[in-house]
Amino acid sequence: MDLGIKGKIAIVAASSKGIGLAAAKKLAEEGANVVICSRNEENLRIAETELKKVSIGEVLAIKCDVTQKADIESLVDKTVDHFGTVHILVNNAGGPPAGYFEDFDDDAWFKAFELNFMSAVRFIRKVLPLMKSQKWGRIINITSVTVKQPIDNLILSNSIRMAVVGLAKTLALQLAEYNITVNNIAPGYTLTSRVRSLVETRAKERGVEFEKIVEELVKEVPAKRMADPSEIGNAVAFLASEAAGYITGVTLFVDGGYVKATL
Ligand code: NAD
Repeated sequence: MDLGIKGKIAIVAASSKGIGLAAAKKLAEEGANVVICSRNEENLRIAETELKKVSIGEVLAIKCDVTQKADIESLVDKTVDHFGTVHILVNNAGGPPAGYFEDFDDDAWFKAFELNFMSAVRFIRKVLPLMKSQKWGRIINITSVTVKQPIDNLILSNSIRMAVVGLAKTLALQLAEYNITVNNIAPGYTLTSRVRSLVETRAKERGVEFEKIVEELVKEVPAKRMADPSEIGNAVAFLASEAAGYITGVTLFVDGGYVKATL
């Protein structure tokens, strides 16, 4: 299927590693010009090199901390200076820390809110005038299965990502007439380098094989495996495509069947 995004301009937030990088790769392979960002200059350059190997269009790497409003505004300004506009926005960020209600003070709650909610608000606010005037836009937020099925020790993720879903649904209804779609992707366990190193650490601590820890983690996953980050990237590329133009306001679970809800 031709996704119809050749030559489109895509910003993928928090994309030097993991799901963000995988999403950037898929968009780049499909011919989009891709802007990646990360806080760490060295990681950013490594990702840029990796991306350029598969990219048909251009790649622009810009240092940006997505918790900083000024960084977000500057990244979008630089993108527009270079490419002229933005067609596709993928809102991604690192996950908030794991823990229970008693573990977090106000500061921790506000930090998670800035990282996982305000980053999306600020990116959307900045790109929306461009998308509205060109009557074409795709906004895709990376959330988590926790929006449908809370995970016990992830109270920050369980709570704050729900605000992203509310934001996306509201905007989806208001922006459809501008040919702008707003959707979420809810990944389940995904074997990114971060998850790989968590599994390795746990395996070493317990003196067991890597596969044993993965097996335990995916016990509740009908597919009996974790996702490869590219599988989340595929879903991003599809929702960003011309072909997905009539899909808006949805949360697409890419979780190997982990969430058991029927609807
Ligand atoms: P990751 O830690 O592997 O990658 C996160 C990326 O974000 C890195 O490139 C990091 O440099 C960047 N980043 C983090 N904080 C940033 C900041 N303030 N500014 C700019 N860049 C920043 O994470 P991942 O596993 O790819 O997950 C991506 C998102 O998906 C997270 O929100 C995570 O909670 C969520 N998620 C992940 C999984 C999973 O199993 N991997 C499952 C469900 C949801």
